[in-house]
Amino acid sequence: MPEAPKNTHKPTTDYNLELKNKKTLQFIEDVTSNADEVQKKVLEEILSRNAHVEYLQTHGLNGHTDRETFKTIMPVITYEDIQPYVDRIANGDTSPILSSHPISEFLTSSGTSGGERKLMPTIEEELGRRSLLYSLLMPVMSQFVPGLDKGKGMYFLFIKSEAKTPSGLVARPVLTSYYKSTHFKDRPYDPYTNYTSPNETILCPDSYQSMYSQMLCGLCQHKEVLRVGAVFASGFIRAIKFLEKHWRFLCNDIRTGTIDSQITDQSVREAVMKILKPDPKLADFIEAECSKDSWQGIITRLWPNTKYVDVIVTGTMSQYIPTLDYYTNGLPLVCTMYASSECYFGVNLNPLCKPSEVSYTLIPTMAYFEFLPVQRNNGVNSSISVPKTLNEKEQQELVDLVDVKLGQEYELVVTTYSGLYRYRVGDVLRVAGFKNNAPQFNFICRKNVVLCIDSDKTDEVELQNAVKNAVNHLLPFDATLAEYTSYADTTTIPGHYVLYWELSLNGTTPIPPSVFEDCCLTLEESLNSVYRQGRVCDKSIGPLEIKIVEPGTFDKLMDYAISLGASINQYKTPRCVKFAPIVELLNSRAVSSFFSPKCPKWFPGHKQWINMN
Ligand code: AMP
Repeated sequence: MPEAPKNTHKPTTDYNLELKNKKTLQFIEDVTSNADEVQKKVLEEILSRNAHVEYLQTHGLNGHTDRETFKTIMPVITYEDIQPYVDRIANGDTSPILSSHPISEFLTSSGTSGGERKLMPTIEEELGRRSLLYSLLMPVMSQFVPGLDKGKGMYFLFIKSEAKTPSGLVARPVLTSYYKSTHFKDRPYDPYTNYTSPNETILCPDSYQSMYSQMLCGLCQHKEVLRVGAVFASGFIRAIKFLEKHWRFLCNDIRTGTIDSQITDQSVREAVMKILKPDPKLADFIEAECSKDSWQGIITRLWPNTKYVDVIVTGTMSQYIPTLDYYTNGLPLVCTMYASSECYFGVNLNPLCKPSEVSYTLIPTMAYFEFLPVQRNNGVNSSISVPKTLNEKEQQELVDLVDVKLGQEYELVVTTYSGLYRYRVGDVLRVAGFKNNAPQFNFICRKNVVLCIDSDKTDEVELQNAVKNAVNHLLPFDATLAEYTSYADTTTIPGHYVLYWELSLNGTTPIPPSVFEDCCLTLEESLNSVYRQGRVCDKSIGPLEIKIVEPGTFDKLMDYAISLGASINQYKTPRCVKFAPIVELLNSRAVSSFFSPKCPKWFPGHKQWINMN
């Protein structure tokens, strides 16, 4: 993710990049050296300004601001614990419920509850904190890659649709909120935030026009581009796929110096026209590269001065590393930051390291951080065990930022400036090392998530529920589902969910393909709102597929797992598979395959708001 961009105005003579970088790096030194003191101060600040909010009063914190009392009195919670408070705010209660500062909007998380995006309250000043984290990224990067101020970044950035709560508060994803803020739009000049995409192209609500115009501007300025990126790896790959589909139109625009008529947004057209000039030579060059049979290294071919690819490839996004390596000829893949709707957490201080070694240093000024130790049940599934609700003893096991142990895994718990107190984010992190006194964490996984293609996160319960709904279509055929598992197939672009089904057939009537297609669609309709948005709006997820496998396939799967060391007594069919030989085994026994025939339904906002706005 790029740094908080500052204004595009021309540089003033007193702009001193070196000094600015030095100051930023010194800030990192200071807060990581004094991590514990900073954390103590952050908690005191949050608790004193919010001493009178209803949530803290109800729990009897009584104005205390010290860690010990806070930890003894306040419970460690999940979203469901604060949902009633959030609902009141969404419905118009403006009293200080969670925060003494007015809630400016809700940030809609890609984590869901009851199938809908979680709503994270936020306050105006959080934008400043987010900007601060962004502003650390390029000074860190410039220690490893010099000269980045001499060119541009080609980043594919998008806004998503927003909704209003019944009381009229805006609810939208955190990046949409950020890109629409003055912090982004009216950024002061900074050579590190010189992007190929004009603001208007990023802020265009139509995802096709936004992508087309950003790609066009990126191609026009190809020689100036020193780094490329998107937020997630999946988004960057989608941009490459877009180019594969539309390069002829783009070349035509570059050849003639005019914009395709499908780009109807006037502000986008005007912004692009400031960059687009007739350039037949460039059009010929792009055409020649794009018409070659192989697209291997297309990024380095079209943008020859690119030094690295800035995308998140940690966590589930690691599934995209081979595809990125192919298109970029092995350019460094750089994960710069770790953030969420709840709070922005930290930065990668060694950005050129291998993706498997990426660790994030949590910045102690961002929030008050605590860590819940996690036990991993090592086995074929290597599941992670974290209790859903914590008893008193478990609540006391949480440790502070500076007390985590090297090699140990923890679930992240945050207390934020915007009204979350001891909130379990749901991410599991492992301590990889320390920067001064501040720990650095590998991102291990999001708890419970079994399937993920883009920003969707499907857990086992949601999957089970969706399967239960879908199999109803089989009842008239006297067929039942004997076993199932799933796989996030990212060999297609966009990736898609695959369900492997083994059936028990008792009836004699063959099941027509349309029935399995109905099963696919019912599965999709039953999945959460983020999944459905990805299918409908962003087209970041392809149609769901059911593969019917031969009878006996799941016995073979069990035999295989046992041969790898799983215990016979404890063996449970994994509801999601990732290990390539297991996917191969399942694919080799597939007898037929069906896809969802259309997109599921999706509406912006929560379904209960639809008739209220
Ligand atoms: P959201 O609340 O929708 O913005 O999603 C935030 C979540 O995305 C985090 O809690 C993580 O699970 C995931 N995430 C964010 N940054 C990273 C990263 N650098 N590596 C892996 N996962 C990440």
